[in-house]
Amino acid sequence: MRYYNLKDPRAKVGFRDAVMRGISSDTGLFMPETIPVMEPQFFERLPELSLAEIAVEVGTRYVGNDIPPEEMERICAGAFDFPVIMREIDGRKQVLELFHGPTAAFKDFGARFLAGCFSYFASHDGMRTVVLVATSGDTGGAIASSFLGVEGVDVIILYPSGKVSVLQENQMTTLGQNITAIEVEGTFDDCQAMVKGTLTTMDTGNRIRLTSANSINIARLIPQSFYYYYAVGRAGGGKVISVPSGNFGNITAAAMAWQSGLDIDHLVAATNINKVVPEYLSSGVFTPASSLQTIASAMDVGNPGNFPRLTRLYDDDFRRITSAISGYWFNDGQIREHIRAEFERTGYILDPHGAVASLGLDGYLEEHPEKSGIFVETAHPGKFAGTVEPLIETDVEIPESLRGFPEGQKESVIMKSGSDQLADFLSHRYSTG
Ligand SMILES: *Cc1c(COP(=O)(O)O)cnc(C)c1O
Repeated sequence: MRYYNLKDPRAKVGFRDAVMRGISSDTGLFMPETIPVMEPQFFERLPELSLAEIAVEVGTRYVGNDIPPEEMERICAGAFDFPVIMREIDGRKQVLELFHGPTAAFKDFGARFLAGCFSYFASHDGMRTVVLVATSGDTGGAIASSFLGVEGVDVIILYPSGKVSVLQENQMTTLGQNITAIEVEGTFDDCQAMVKGTLTTMDTGNRIRLTSANSINIARLIPQSFYYYYAVGRAGGGKVISVPSGNFGNITAAAMAWQSGLDIDHLVAATNINKVVPEYLSSGVFTPASSLQTIASAMDVGNPGNFPRLTRLYDDDFRRITSAISGYWFNDGQIREHIRAEFERTGYILDPHGAVASLGLDGYLEEHPEKSGIFVETAHPGKFAGTVEPLIETDVEIPESLRGFPEGQKESVIMKSGSDQLADFLSHRYSTG
C-alpha cells in the first residue's frame, strides 16, 4: 500500500513514512492510493469477528509489509482491549457506543492504534520522536493516556486555555512523565495552526523527529473504520449511519469502510452550529469559518482538517458526495431539548455529541420512512454531566476510568498563540537551535 500527498499526488510514501511524518512537508494530507476491497468471505465471517480480529484483517491491508503480522496482532490486541457496545433505541434506531475505552471517548481507538505503531517504529530506529497534538478537549486525554510511558516518544499537547472541561484538563495535565501540556491563549484553530506551522517549517536536524498525532495522521484515521465493520456485522447491512462530526475524521473512516465493500446505505454528517460542511453539502461552496463555542465542544471546528480527504474519496465529485452523504446541523437549544426528550421517551442518556448524531439520524429517517439507522455515541454522558444532569434531572454515572485522575496537580506551560512560540519552546527543550 502506498500513500500519496493530497497536494502533490506524485509524492508517494509507504505506511511507515506516512505515519511518522504525520503530515507531509507542504501540509498536504496523506491518503491511501486505493481503498482496499475486502473479500466476500471476510464479510460473511464479520458477525463473529471481534474488534481486534477485524482490526488485524483490515489494518494489514493498509499497513502492508511495514509492520509484520505478529506485531499487528500484538498492536491490535493491546489497542482494542475494551468493549464496543450496540444498543437498540427503538425499532428504527440503534446506537453504537464508542466511549468504553480508557478516556471514555472514541478518540481512544485512533490514539491507541497510533501509539502502538509509533512505539513499534520508534523502537526500530532509535531516534527520539516528539509528537505534537492540538486538541479541543478529547484528543489530548486520549493521546496522553495512550502514549504515557511509551519509550523513545515525547508527547506535547496544545489546548485552548479555558475552553476545555476540568475533567479534560486533568486528563492532559496531571500525568507527567513523557507528557507535556501547553495551554495556548487562543482557540483550537490557533492550536492546530501552531502544530501545522511548526511541523512544516521547523528544522530539527537529526536530533529529534517531529510528528503529529492529530486526526490528520493516517494511523488515527484507519482504526476509526474498524468499528463500522463491527457495528454493521452485528446490526446487519443497509443501515444509515449518522456520525457527530468536527474535524471529519470519523465520518471519513466510515466512508472508507463503505468503499471497501461494507454494506452501508447512507452517511449523515451531523454537526453543531459549526456548519461549514452541511452548508457545503447544500450549496456546493466550502467556506471555512472561525470556530464557535457550543456544548458539543469536541466538534467546535471551523475548518475541518479531514474534509479534503472525505471529498477525495469521491474524486471531489459533488454529485457523488451528496448522493452518499447528507448534512444536518443543530444549535445548543436543539441539542439540550433532544437530550431531555430522548431520555423521557426512551430512558437513554445522550451526551451532547451523540445527541447531535441522534438528531441528524432522526432528520434523515423522517425524510426516508422506509430506512433504519445507527447513530454514533462518541463520549460518555458522564464527561458532560454538568450539561446533561440538569436536563434529565437525574444523576449521570461517571465512568470508572475517569474517577482515578488526580486533581490539583496540574502542570502546564502557558503560551501565546503562534508557531514561533512553539518552535522556540522546542528548540530550548531539545537544544536544536
Ligand atoms: C473528536 C470528537 C468528535 C468529532 O470527531 P471528528 O473525527 O473530529 O469529526 C465527536 N465527538 C467527540 C466526543 C469527539 O471527541
